[in-house]
Amino acid sequence: MPAIGGPEWTGGCLCGAVRYRANAPPQWASYCHCGMCRKVSGAPYMAFVEFPEGALEWTQGERSRYASNEGVARGFCGECGSSLTFEADGLVFMALGSLDHPENVEVQRHCYTKFKLPGIKLADGLPEFPGPFGGKGGFPIG
Ligand SMILES: [Zn+2]
Ligand SMILES: [Zn+2]
Repeated sequence: MPAIGGPEWTGGCLCGAVRYRANAPPQWASYCHCGMCRKVSGAPYMAFVEFPEGALEWTQGERSRYASNEGVARGFCGECGSSLTFEADGLVFMALGSLDHPENVEVQRHCYTKFKLPGIKLADGLPEFPGPFGGKGGFPIG
């Protein structure tokens, strides 16, 4: 991933009501194939990035939150409905697609592949985990 001083890490929802910025590159990024990510996004799977603690700043508007399961909230724009976050244990993970330049993010792994849609053939060579990735950079809760 580009070092500090590289691209700006900004993002927001489709309508622009909610915007954020990070002053450091993401420390990890993962695809998630779980059924809840599918529902909340309407897409076959999602990807999330985590910026270092304290790097993220909300610069415009306020996200709405939906408590999807115990200890977990999904953040979205109350105006346009764009998915923005996965939040658990005080951590906020950003939806990769909400970044202005998601092409600058190097995704490291696939998680919850036991729920992957059968028609999706992964060919990127990244490690695949049937459940959560247990180490640093994993989703704390499924
Ligand atoms: Zn919006
Ligand atoms: Zn998921």
